[in-house]
Amino acid sequence: MVVGGGIGGPAAAIGLRRIGWDVTVLERAPAFADVGAGILLHANGVRALDALGVGEAIRATVRPVYTGGTLTPDGRVLSRMDGAALERRLGTPVVGVLRADLHRVLREALPDGRVRTGVEVADVGGAGRDADLVVAADGLDSRRRAELFPRHPGAVYSGSTVLRAVTERPFHDPLHDLELTWGRGTGFGHIRFVDGRAEWHAVLTAPPGVRHRDPLAALRRYDAVRRRRGRSVARAARQAGRMGHGLTHPLAVALRNGVLRLAPSGATLRRPLRHADWTPPRLR
Ligand SMILES: Cc1cc2nc3c(=O)[nH]c(=O)nc-3n(C[C@H](O)[C@H](O)[C@H](O)COP(=O)(O)OP(=O)(O)OC[C@H]3O[C@@H](n4cnc5c(N)ncnc54)[C@H](O)[C@@H]3O)c2cc1C
Repeated sequence: MVVGGGIGGPAAAIGLRRIGWDVTVLERAPAFADVGAGILLHANGVRALDALGVGEAIRATVRPVYTGGTLTPDGRVLSRMDGAALERRLGTPVVGVLRADLHRVLREALPDGRVRTGVEVADVGGAGRDADLVVAADGLDSRRRAELFPRHPGAVYSGSTVLRAVTERPFHDPLHDLELTWGRGTGFGHIRFVDGRAEWHAVLTAPPGVRHRDPLAALRRYDAVRRRRGRSVARAARQAGRMGHGLTHPLAVALRNGVLRLAPSGATLRRPLRHADWTPPRLR
């Protein structure tokens, strides 16, 4: 019997079945939803999935990370990701996978009825009475660990809290598959997935127990200011392009040049000032 239907539980169950055990996974969540964000799998993880017989299925859902790296907040490169070198050395680069896809692949490798949801195991003694083996895969704050190893101190908060999300639509970053920005006590990064979407995550140094009830509200507030401005900058850039390199007709080119030559310098200055004279809103 495996307690916990997260990543470790179904993986353990697949392995046990491959060596002849009859296994049932019990998961307390009422149903499996597409929860979680993204996970980076290195070659060791991919090899482990190969050993479980799900390597092919997982390869269809991952995106290799070939480019990217770690940056400072002002955009200077601290280190570059060389996925091709990792691939030459290890047979695979790091790959990015949606946690939901990894979870689905593991679940689907188990026969119907072998993963039972809506079953919370209160104590191993009771639920595991008829089992020859109980695997406690009930996550970071495992209560089974506390029950079986009462002197174990349990998980200790590392001092960092991560906020993660997956974009709703494909994310067009022409440059990098993976990017991490390291600041002082904070970090921000993204991982791209096979369907073009991306996970972003913000790492914050925070005291234990701090809950961010609505972390997206702060981003929405900023976006409400930024989006209007972003559109206006994009419009101005398009107009400038149309009037600049975009003009091809000789008459139009001559007219533009004449107007620009005659325009008073104040008028020429007004245009860039509209966008350049701006200070970002204070982040709260
Ligand atoms: C919802 C969710 C989303 C996550 N998203 C990410 C992510 O985006 N990126 C990342 O890097 N990591 C993520 N993680 C963490 C990562 O999946 C795990 O830390 C890691 O895979 C270890 O897996 P695990 O099986 O030990 O634990 P988990 O994956 O945490 O699974 C433990 C499971 O045990 C179940 N459980 C707990 N107690 C009982 C009980 N008494 N009876 C029955 N079932 C019980 C839980 O409901 C859970 O499904 C997420 C974890 C969860 C639960």
